[in-house]
Amino acid sequence: MKSKSKGRRKFTTLERISVYDKGNGLCAICGEPIDFDNFTVDHIVPLYNGGSNAMDNLQPTCFVCNQMKQNMNRQQFLFKIREIFFNNLFDMVSLRKKGGAA
Ligand SMILES: [Zn+2]
Repeated sequence: MKSKSKGRRKFTTLERISVYDKGNGLCAICGEPIDFDNFTVDHIVPLYNGGSNAMDNLQPTCFVCNQMKQNMNRQQFLFKIREIFFNNLFDMVSLRKKGGAA
């Protein structure tokens, strides 16, 4: 085991049920319904940043959100999403202007 992965461990089924119930079957980030078999237990404050495995630091997320979020905390993640969103919004608006009928 690498020392870098300290604190990261597999969750028990009971822990997974508790986390899943917290989100009422929805991804805590994008709000999409998630399957119990496929959801990912996410650390609200990443272990990397000193977060714990305590239940109040855990939330259910879909695989995609979890992969995107990785070692960012919620604030950093939302900021990044906003950045991506506005970046693409600008593209969409300028495309629409360019593509508009003359
Ligand atoms: Zn999601």
